[in-house]
Amino acid sequence: MKVAYISHADCGRHDTGWRHPEHVGRLRAIPRALREDVELYHALEHVEGRHATIEDIALGHDRAYVDRVRRLSESGGGALDADTIVSEGSWDAARAAVGCVLDAVDRAIDGEARSFCAVRPPGHHALPDRGMGFCLFGNVALGAHHARQRRGVDRVLIVDWDVHHGNGTQAMVEHDPSIRFVSMHQSPWYPGTGAATDRGPLGSIWNVPMPGGLPATRYVEALQGAVEDATRGFTPGLVMVSAGFDCLAGDPLGEFTLEVEHIAALATWLLDKAEGWCGGRMLASLEGGYAPDRVGAASVAVMRAMLGR
Ligand SMILES: [Zn+2]
Repeated sequence: MKVAYISHADCGRHDTGWRHPEHVGRLRAIPRALREDVELYHALEHVEGRHATIEDIALGHDRAYVDRVRRLSESGGGALDADTIVSEGSWDAARAAVGCVLDAVDRAIDGEARSFCAVRPPGHHALPDRGMGFCLFGNVALGAHHARQRRGVDRVLIVDWDVHHGNGTQAMVEHDPSIRFVSMHQSPWYPGTGAATDRGPLGSIWNVPMPGGLPATRYVEALQGAVEDATRGFTPGLVMVSAGFDCLAGDPLGEFTLEVEHIAALATWLLDKAEGWCGGRMLASLEGGYAPDRVGAASVAVMRAMLGR
């Protein structure tokens, strides 16, 4: 099976300003790390994703909010909250980020490839009617709805290993029982949601709050346990990973202790599961991760796992 590296030049045009942790350097670190592994670089299919349409984004967001982001961007930009910025290039960046994930979904369903989406702005905090936590649109949640509503996938599993709770993804998928969402995150920590008792209105949400500073294997085992629970009697037709690399040791915005080797092991484990469930239909999309070199190394590890290397 081919492995696609999907990105879009417009993702670099989301300008968060001086000294914001979510900056374009995070994204640039990925091709930089890829080029250090020439064999891997050439084994990948390099794809420029599409721009999502307003219809695509409205699969999970209120049109009034989508319009607000577009107008704010077109008028030169502004702030949605203290740390969520819209710049002149953000509309194009945000719809490219969504579009790359939609492309990855289509490729997985058409049996062509596993994909890694190197995109920004990230998406898992974006609520249906409001951006927050550096996120404008719910890239992965929108991809799940695209798979369900337009591509005939019966069941989707989303696994979120970003150090923060994927509150936006939860809000956007918790009313669809055919999408199950597993989020492991530091607690107490931003954004403050994601208690283990919060299973969503339909019981389709698995939240795994964890303290920071534990041995890395504890996080790996906790996430694997939750995925096992979530897939008992539920065979996914597509596996989507919200790959936040702020779960790595030393990240400035998290206190988890994972190393790149743990990310590789988790990706390999999930791929093996996906092989059994749905012929290996799986994609990963970048969420957080604020130490650029670590983001690059971990992204490469996921792509290597996808290639079975
Ligand atoms: Zn995060």
